[in-house]
Amino acid sequence: MTISCRVSPCSRKDIRKYSRHFREQLNLGNALEFPIVEVLEGFSEAGYFDIEIVPVDAMPNSYGETLYHQKLIRIREDIYDKACEGDGFSRSTIAHELFHFFKHRNEEIVFCRTVEELESRKTYEDPEWQANCFAGELLVPIKLVKEMSIEEVVEKCRVSHQMATYQLNKYEIDGWV
Ligand SMILES: [Zn+2]
Repeated sequence: MTISCRVSPCSRKDIRKYSRHFREQLNLGNALEFPIVEVLEGFSEAGYFDIEIVPVDAMPNSYGETLYHQKLIRIREDIYDKACEGDGFSRSTIAHELFHFFKHRNEEIVFCRTVEELESRKTYEDPEWQANCFAGELLVPIKLVKEMSIEEVVEKCRVSHQMATYQLNKYEIDGWV
């Protein structure tokens, strides 16, 4: 399993392109229900990072976190379990953490930015916004949901009602490109 991307995504359009690329590299371009837990575990098995499933009381204020330099993604146990059962919000949390990992990796490896450059970027680019944007673009692929209702997207892509509504609205505004 390899992922390489020459673009360090920033805008929603960049992230849309990146998420399509991400799916295609995994041969999941046409998968309606993106197998996010299997993909997380596949990357871990391939040596990209370790996964730590953390008890709820050890991480009460967050659902997951990515410690890039330790090559570690920590997911709270309840979120991990629910993601395995297909819960939309929990699935999006895992996508969110994966983005943090690969974004950081792209910036360090492809662009070889200095620490100072990275710090200054982060003041005006919100990595949390970008990670949420990626989760939506990855789990609700624009090219597969064009004729669908909100309810169909919820069911077929296994995402929350809120995410389905939000993504369909964005795609409509962007003219489905
Ligand atoms: Zn985050």
